[in-house]
Amino acid sequence: MPDANGVESRAGGAALTAEARLKANNDTKAQGVEGTYNTMSILPKFKTVEDERLHLKISLAAAFRIMGDLGYDVGVAGHGTFRDPEFPECFWMNPIAVHFSDMTVGELVLVNQHGEVIQGNRPINAAGFAIHAGIYRVNQRVKSIVHNHSMYGKSFSVTGRTLLPITQDACAFYERQALYNTYEGVVLDTDEGELLGKLLGEQNHLVILQNHGLLTAGSNPDEMAWWFISADQCAQSEMIVDASGQKKIVLSHDVAVKTRAQVGTPLLGWYNFQPYKRRILKQYPELLDATAPVKDSYY
Ligand SMILES: [Zn+2]
Repeated sequence: MPDANGVESRAGGAALTAEARLKANNDTKAQGVEGTYNTMSILPKFKTVEDERLHLKISLAAAFRIMGDLGYDVGVAGHGTFRDPEFPECFWMNPIAVHFSDMTVGELVLVNQHGEVIQGNRPINAAGFAIHAGIYRVNQRVKSIVHNHSMYGKSFSVTGRTLLPITQDACAFYERQALYNTYEGVVLDTDEGELLGKLLGEQNHLVILQNHGLLTAGSNPDEMAWWFISADQCAQSEMIVDASGQKKIVLSHDVAVKTRAQVGTPLLGWYNFQPYKRRILKQYPELLDATAPVKDSYY
């Protein structure tokens, strides 16, 4: 039986949810797909930190490719990162002025806490550094972050509201989101990033930046990417209902909490991204290219 999120997997002839299969894997030490990016229903494990780093870079590059396909790239706005698994004060980031749809493993750059690119050949978005560095500094739970100017996310942000629990998908954000209701120009100070990190707190995976756009976070790039895709869709859905002029049926607190436990966990966030990643890797195998690009002459 698929669970409430349509998730179904089989092991030993029995249908299991992703949560149950993870538990079964931990209990039995069943052989999983270690350190590969195409694992289906269990979180990957790694023998070396280098393997983990490569896996995370592939996930982040894949996240950019799908975000490019979804039209989230707007000029030089938009940035996504993950903490390095060996040096957690540093993070991997997309370089500025490279289209999301051109992202490869080799394009990603490693940035230290001072904003210096210590691996890679391209410069970074200063506002992106300020946001991500501030969040990572104050919120150790967060391992991966993305922000961009997607059409529905930035449009919904103008309402100064958070997402209502009006659909099953939207329940994933029930009491797991915050509104940053200040906009005072492009962020160039890590203090604002620290405020966002505090808003993410211990459980939130979405911050709506008023008059700006969405920001999502998670324990890995897969999870943060799914929250962003889903939040943008939920924003679109809520605005479609608003535009219809019809009365909204808002789910009760109890139902929203129950549904959130089914669709809003970090594991389900990670799991929901896997079909996107599999498709993207088939569609754009060149994203695996780890060759560092030559520095562009116009910088
Ligand atoms: Zn922005």
